Formats: sequence, C-alpha cells, structure tokens
Amino acid sequence: MESLLYIHVPFCQRLCGYCDFYKTMSLRHLPDYPQALLTEAEHRREELSDTTLSTIYFGGGTPSLLTPEAIGGLLDGFGNIWDTSQVGEITLEANPDDLTAERLEGYRRAGINRLSIGIQSFDDEQLRFMNRRHDAAAARRAIEEARSAGFDNISIDLIYGVPCGKDGIWQRNIEEALSLNPEHISAYHLTIEEKTLFGKRGVQPVAEEQSEEQFLLLHRRLTEAGYDHYEISNFAREGRRSQHNSGYWRGVPYLGLGPGAHSFGGTRRSWNLPLVARYVADPTDPTLRESEELTPTEQAEEYLMVGLRTREGIDLEVMEQRFGSERALYTLLQAKPYITSGAVINEGSRLRCDAEHWLVSDAVISDLF
Ligand code: SF4
Repeated sequence: MESLLYIHVPFCQRLCGYCDFYKTMSLRHLPDYPQALLTEAEHRREELSDTTLSTIYFGGGTPSLLTPEAIGGLLDGFGNIWDTSQVGEITLEANPDDLTAERLEGYRRAGINRLSIGIQSFDDEQLRFMNRRHDAAAARRAIEEARSAGFDNISIDLIYGVPCGKDGIWQRNIEEALSLNPEHISAYHLTIEEKTLFGKRGVQPVAEEQSEEQFLLLHRRLTEAGYDHYEISNFAREGRRSQHNSGYWRGVPYLGLGPGAHSFGGTRRSWNLPLVARYVADPTDPTLRESEELTPTEQAEEYLMVGLRTREGIDLEVMEQRFGSERALYTLLQAKPYITSGAVINEGSRLRCDAEHWLVSDAVISDLF
C-alpha cells in the first residue's frame, strides 16, 4: 500500500496578512527542530512500516528556513527509519527570498527534486499589501536561479481576489507566470479569516463577480497555454501534477510530522497540537496528539468534497463499493439538477464538476451531502 510523508516546518520571519496556517515568528526552536522531527519519525515508525512511501513534502511555515544540510540530514534519517527507495517526488516549499544560488544547489544535492515557490504576486504594491517578505524582482530571480541550479519541476503559488492594486494586475500576474514557464501553478483565492492580520484589520473581500471573472480568466488563459487544470486551484504541464497532493485527493494514507501536522490512516485522522516549544521538548509526548475515527458518512462526504474539486471527479461505482448502493443512488439523484444545468458532467459512472463551475462547487457539494 502506498503512503505519503508530510513534514510541517512552522517558522516564519514575517506574518503574511492572510495567513491562518500554524506558524511562529520565533526562530528559537529552529536549530533543534530537525532532531525533534527525527525523534517523532522514529517513534511513529510503525505507522508506515507496511507501506511504500511514494512522496515526501516539506510544507510550512517556511521550510526554506532549514539549511540544505538540515534537509539532507532529515532525508537520510527518514531513509534509515523507512524504505524510501520508491520515493519519487520530494517537494520543498520555499520563500523566494531564501533561494540563493548556493542554497538551491544545496537543496538539489540534498535530494529535493521539486520546488513550490510562494510567489503570490508579481506586483510590488500587492506584495506589500499582503506583507510578504519578498518583492517582484526577488520572485523572478528565484525562479531563474532555480532553473540554473537544475530544478526541472517548479511550482509557483499565486493569489487572486486581492483587494488592492490597479485594474488588470491579475491578468499581468498570469502573463508573467506564463512567461517564466513553471511546470506547475497553484492559484488560490484570497480568503479573509477572522484571526488573521487581514481579519483584524477589517480587510474586505473583492466582489463575487470579480472573483469569478478572475477565476475564469485564470482557467481560460492557462488551459489555452497548455496547462491541465486538474484541481480547482492547480494547473500542471503534462506529467507534472503534484504527486503528493494528488495522493491526498485519492485518499492515500499519510503521516504528518511536526506541530500542527495532520495524519490520515484510511478511516482515522490524527493531528499534532500546534505547540512547538512542547514538541521540541518531547516530540513523543502522547498528550500532544489527538485523533478521531471518521464515520462512514464523514468518509463519504470527504470523498465527495475532495473528488468534485478534481478533474476526474467521483466514481459512483467506488461510492457503491465503499459506502453502499443507497448512498451512491442518493448522490446521483441529488446531482440530477446540476447535470441538467451543465454544472455537473456525468460520464459513465463518473460525476465531475465542469471546470468553469468549480468556483461555485461548494454549493453543488453541499447539496450532494
Ligand atoms: S503565508 Fe506562509 S510565509 Fe506567510 S506567514 Fe503564512 S506560513 Fe508564513
């Protein structure tokens, strides 16, 4: 059985206005962090012992605050704990500011073969508004340096629906992204959560029509340029889909290391509490981990929610096998009005949302629950 490994690196040098991930600005625990991760990995060795690890993903936070030596040490350490010989994709999320030529070469040598660079925008005014650490020139330079260091699998993150800047910025961001020819683009709509800096400052979201317009522009322009729009927020050149995230969407079990990281074992979800100081003091402390067993209804809802955001959609035959014929039939009946309106496409036993309707897929999904 296949499995995935996720490592959360919860350190950031600056807080982005929209961010609601678990992170800390204190770098006090950064030097001890790799050893704590290896201790947790060793402690949880059994959870992956009967599986074939296929991807490793360093996410954050800002994993590029870890040196190449630290990343290399972690990958070697994981290789001593589990069989990593079948691992294909090893991703590092990185902030453009951290990606010097020297670091990039070090990461390549350490074994990283995919970079996910948090560009967000190529407009300095928007970057300042979001309180990002880099400017547009640093974003361009990071991609060029990554190419020079030999990375041939680069993903960039962009954010749309940003209530700042002149008309046409989103279109320029898309064109600039295309001119850099990354293998993969993730584009997320800005959300404003209460506890974030934006939430506290009362930043208002853009109008719905603008969101839709920007999403459609993104979809049309990127698909025209040959990218596969394979999930609501993700676009890839042929053969360059994110193997790690695709694994999540297929329901592959994963182990998450580090405070705030989540794990999934098929029907059971667990998570580490977001408490970095206690984690570094004792990563094996059982009171730092919580878990829950998913009911069959929750599993079916998860399958629908994740599947309908992907290009492949859901398979009613799989639903029938996993959750019973009644549940599969109910889903089909609930989907009928959307099939009639064209928002949902029914091909054989599969149901999928039409890509142009993905932005409103939440409404479809909740009606199928
Ligand atoms: S968006 Fe990323 S870099 Fe910015 S604060 Fe959040 S985790 Fe840190």
